[in-house]
Formats: sequence, C-alpha cells, structure tokens
Amino acid sequence: MKGTFSGGCLCGYVRYEHAGDPEGANYCHCPDCRRTTGSAFSIGVRARVDALRIISGHVKAYTKIAGSGNEITREFCPKCGSPLFTKSPAHPEFVYIKAGSLDDPALVKPICQIWTKMAVPWARIDDRLTTYPKGRLTASEKKSQ
Ligand SMILES: [Zn+2]
Ligand SMILES: [Zn+2]
Repeated sequence: MKGTFSGGCLCGYVRYEHAGDPEGANYCHCPDCRRTTGSAFSIGVRARVDALRIISGHVKAYTKIAGSGNEITREFCPKCGSPLFTKSPAHPEFVYIKAGSLDDPALVKPICQIWTKMAVPWARIDDRLTTYPKGRLTASEKKSQ
C-alpha cells in the first residue's frame, strides 16, 4: 500500500501533499545548496513530480546553472523564504523536497551524500560529539531540573 506525506514552509502559506512514500534522501554539500539553505548542506528527499501537489499557496522559483553545468531551479515560499523544492530539467520526472519541510521528519531516510569534496569541515556529523536530545540547557536551567 502506498502512503502519502505532506509538508510546508515555515509560515504555512505553502502546503504540499505527495501521493506515495518518499524515496531515499541525499545530503548535498555543493556551494549552491550551502547558500540556499544558509547551512552546511541541503537534504533532499527525492519524489515524483507527478505525485506532488501544492495544496495551498504558490512557490517562487529561482534558476541558476549549477557547478555540474545543469540548470537547477529552486523553489521557495515567497512570504517566508523557506526553501522547499529543487528541480532539474535533466531529470524532469523528479523533484527534491527539502527534508526539513516534511511534517513527519521520521520519513526522511538519507541514503547518500553528494559533492562531499566541497563539504565544509564543520559539516561532518561526528558521533563522538556530545549530543543533546533536546536543546542545550544553560547551567541555571540544568540546576532547576
Ligand atoms: Zn512560508
Ligand atoms: Zn547541491
């Protein structure tokens, strides 16, 4: 049985639905993804264009020639700026949905990372790092728990 999943932008203006389960996600370390996310890398969930439906609002698009030489169109919420979708005319049947926009982040299953040679040293996910299941507490907050 096929599932469906949904998501949207930060302000709630753009909402989408996808018929069928998401495919594997990838980490992209390319400089363009770094810029557009404002973070170290982008995480894209591959989905089928014909299964994706914008159910409220509309996106704004920005197209740029990527380092690969391909045209990449990035779509985002015109009101709050949240990046949502990435499309390439080289693969018109697919859309990469920004993983953080899914309503259920547990559906995101990364299967690979790309452009790792462009990765910044502060992007590596090192399991030796101290991890905080929730936010990092200040000393005074720890005392009061
Ligand atoms: Zn928005
Ligand atoms: Zn990229």
